[in-house]
Amino acid sequence: RLSKIGWIGLGAMGRPMALNLFTKTHLAHQRGEWAGYGKEKPSFLICEEDDSRAESFLFDLREKGGAGLVNRVERVGSGKEMAMHASRILTMLPSTPQVEAVYLDPKGGILAGLQALPLDTPSLGDLPASTSPVKPVSGVEELSSSTNMSAPYMPPTSSPPLDSPTSFAPASSDPNPSSGADAPHTLLIDQTTLDPTTARDIASQIHATTSHRALMLDAPVSGGTGAAERGELTIMFGSPSSEATRMAVELLGRMARDGGVIDCGSNGAGVGVKVCNNLILAINQIALSEGLALGRSLGLDPVLLHNVVNTSSGQSWSSRVNSPLEEIPGSPGSRHYAGGFQTRLMLKDAGLALSAAAVCNLPIPMTWAAKSVYEAVCNEGEGEMATRDFSVVFEWLKKKQAE
Ligand code: NAD
Repeated sequence: RLSKIGWIGLGAMGRPMALNLFTKTHLAHQRGEWAGYGKEKPSFLICEEDDSRAESFLFDLREKGGAGLVNRVERVGSGKEMAMHASRILTMLPSTPQVEAVYLDPKGGILAGLQALPLDTPSLGDLPASTSPVKPVSGVEELSSSTNMSAPYMPPTSSPPLDSPTSFAPASSDPNPSSGADAPHTLLIDQTTLDPTTARDIASQIHATTSHRALMLDAPVSGGTGAAERGELTIMFGSPSSEATRMAVELLGRMARDGGVIDCGSNGAGVGVKVCNNLILAINQIALSEGLALGRSLGLDPVLLHNVVNTSSGQSWSSRVNSPLEEIPGSPGSRHYAGGFQTRLMLKDAGLALSAAAVCNLPIPMTWAAKSVYEAVCNEGEGEMATRDFSVVFEWLKKKQAE
C-alpha cells in the first residue's frame, strides 16, 4: 500500500495530469532520485467510471512511459477499493456531487475504505523532513521536453480573516504531528473545482473519522488542458498541516509549472482561490466575445482588433490565449471550440461563485449576468455548445444576432 499512488477521474484534465504524475514518479524512482515509498517500486491504481477513458489513458501511458510503466498500473472500481490499496490518492472529478460521492459514499467511498484499514496500517512517516519541499529530478526532459520538474511551492503571504463563516484559517500548526502509530497512513488530494465550504467539510469529516491518520488537501488547478499536457499547471492548495503540505508538494510539483504550486492556507482555501479566479475568467471571456462581436458588426478587421486589444487595456488571458476568433492560429475558435474548458463547467463555476457570495451576502451582479449567458449557451439547440470550450459564447452571440 505504501508504494501505491491512486488516481480517480481520467477526464479532460485528469488524463494528462495523471500521465505526467505516473511517468515522472516512475522515472524518478528508476534513477534513485525519489525516496518515501518504502523499499517497493512505486505502482499505480486508476479508477474511472467511463471504460473508454480508462482504456485510452492506458494506451497513452504506454506511448509516454513504455510497457514497463503500464504493467505497474491496475484499475479498481471504487474509492473504497482505492483507499484500501493506495497510500496517496488524487481525484479530478467534475464537481461537488461527484466529490461527495467518491469520498463519502457509505458503501464505495474513500472514507469507507479508510475505515476498513487495520489499526496497524503502516504510516507515511518515513519521508525525510526535507528542507526543500520539492525535490528536483533531473533528466526527465527525455519524456516531456517542456516540463520543469522542480516546482517549489510558495507559502501564503498573508492570513485570511478568521471571523467570517467562510474564512479559511492558515495551517499554522499541525493538528496531529506524526509520531509512531498515530502518524498519517494516507494522503488525499482533491483537485476538482467544487464548493469551498463542501471541500472544507469533507476534509474535516475525513480527519475526524480517521483521527488524522488520513490527511486531505484541496488542490484545484488553473491552466487548461494544454498546460496539463505540458505539466505547466498552476496548482493552488489548502492543507491541514505542514506535514501534509510537504508530502503533497512532492506530487503536485510533477504536474505544475516552475513556482506554480501555491499554498493558499488551510482546507478550502485552495478551492476558494480557484472559485474567485474563475469568477473573473467567466466575465472576461464574455467581455472579449462582446467586444469582438461588435467589432465584426462594425466591419473592423478581426485580427487587427485582436492585436490592438492585446497591446491595450482590454487584454486578458482570454484575449491572449483563448480567443474565439478562427483567424488566430491555435485558438479555440480555430479548432471549432473542441476540447478546452467546457461551457458546462464554466456554468458550474459561476454557480459556485454565486453560492459562495450568497453565504457572505456579497452582491456580484456581473457574475449573475455571466451565469445566465452560459446557461443560455448550454441550453441552445440540442445542447451541443455545452461541451465545447466556453469561448463558444462568441458563436452564440453571432447566432442570436442572426435570429
Ligand atoms: P471531465 O468531465 O472531462 O472529467 C471528469 C472525469 O471524472 C470523467 O472522466 C468522469 O467519467 C470521471 N468520474 C466522474 N465520477 C466518477 C466516479 N464516481 N468514479 C470515477 N470516475 C468518475 O472534467 P475535466 O474537464 O477533467 O474537469 C475536472 C475538474 O477540473 C472540474 O472540476 C473542472 O471545473 C476543473 N478544471 C477543468 C479545466 C479544463 O480546462 N477542462 C481547467 C481547470 C480546472
